[in-house]
Amino acid sequence: MSMKSIPAIIPETGEGYSKFSFFCDICDTQIDNLGRAMAAWEPGEATDVYHVHKGKCLDALDKILDTYLLTVEACDLPIFLLRDLGLTRYEPTYAAA
Ligand SMILES: [Zn+2]
Repeated sequence: MSMKSIPAIIPETGEGYSKFSFFCDICDTQIDNLGRAMAAWEPGEATDVYHVHKGKCLDALDKILDTYLLTVEACDLPIFLLRDLGLTRYEPTYAAA
């Protein structure tokens, strides 16, 4: 299993700039829509955050790690990151499971 855990930089063709993207830690394909992915991590101290497609890939991660996972919608992750870096006063909320 590839564990990138951070956004990858994708060389952009034709636009003259690079862009950030995520790759699924299970199927290793680019996550082109964060609304269809989850960020997941094991509770406890500092740990890796895995980015996986919802459904089969999240289920596979759950089986591989064989532990309770905390998750947020991957599309909400940048909002939490901005908050935790002190770059916004907006307080994100966790969606009900
Ligand atoms: Zn996947």
